[in-house]
Amino acid sequence: MRGVVMHAPGDVRVEDLPDPVIKEPTDAIIRLAATCVCGSDLWPYRGADAVTEPLSMGHEYAGVVEEVGSAVTTIKPGQFVVGSFFASDNTCEICRAGYQTSCVHREVLGTSGGAQAERMRVPLADGTLVATPSLPDADLVPSLLAASDVLGTGWFGAVAAEAGPGKTVAVVGDGAVGLLAVLAAKQLGAERIIAMSRHASRQQLAVKFGATDIVEERGEEGVARVKELTGGLGAHSVIEAVGTQESMRQAIGATRPGGHVGFVGVLHDVEIKGDDIFMTHVHLHGGPAPVRRFLPELIELIVNRVIDPGEVFDLELPLDQAAEGYRAMDERRAIKVLLRP
Ligand SMILES: [Zn+2]
Repeated sequence: MRGVVMHAPGDVRVEDLPDPVIKEPTDAIIRLAATCVCGSDLWPYRGADAVTEPLSMGHEYAGVVEEVGSAVTTIKPGQFVVGSFFASDNTCEICRAGYQTSCVHREVLGTSGGAQAERMRVPLADGTLVATPSLPDADLVPSLLAASDVLGTGWFGAVAAEAGPGKTVAVVGDGAVGLLAVLAAKQLGAERIIAMSRHASRQQLAVKFGATDIVEERGEEGVARVKELTGGLGAHSVIEAVGTQESMRQAIGATRPGGHVGFVGVLHDVEIKGDDIFMTHVHLHGGPAPVRRFLPELIELIVNRVIDPGEVFDLELPLDQAAEGYRAMDERRAIKVLLRP
């Protein structure tokens, strides 16, 4: 089968790879209907994460089950499924509390064959995968794929920030996760949603997803602008969807005393000092989003056409042109690139 391999920063190739096989009785093999390039794939692509050996890329997936191991009971061949970037049993105490990305049996997907390929192996299939009620119409596939990571991550950011009725929510970051955090805040009933972005096309999508205000300023100026819009207090809920020192500081600074920051950008060299939280009365909650917690609800909203998160994909390419997809995202010519195997 064909699959994407990163050999070094900036060096992405589509190669012939061995077909995945069932290794554990709890595995499933799926055929990807679509896959995509993640903002987090850009960290190694830009050399910010080391690439010490060829990496099989991709951790976002939606597709049809082809084969299941002997211990898989609920997932069946022929079903269309969506799963998260961490496999989880969905039965341990941590999973049942809604933190499947910290499952005691969790496995990071992509390490033994990534999702940017024609087929992939999914461990702990019964716990990890959620089947759609029936085979979805083709136009729903991008939205179902978005549920696998960017929608689920933005959603967790909004839940962690306690977005809801009567709340003013600010979103730091205008990548796919930040934009879908706007959509999540809207769905969760937020009264006012401030999107922080200086890119016209991303601002437009933010407004379409439910943003009521746009703030173009960054850093201290951005914080001052959010305070200006909120009677000097700051937002009740702030979603941090970047993962840098500057964005985290901006998120904490834009939150009112007693407010909540939901941080879901993968952190890179971020330091939070005691005074940042002691003197501000800000709650911090975040981490790798337990997407699995939200998947049943997100799938229902998508198949009933209540939300259309697939709109974040503004470039679609055949899998064989993955290298161009990475370039387009790296140069910010595309918000998010969908790859068709
Ligand atoms: Zn678990």
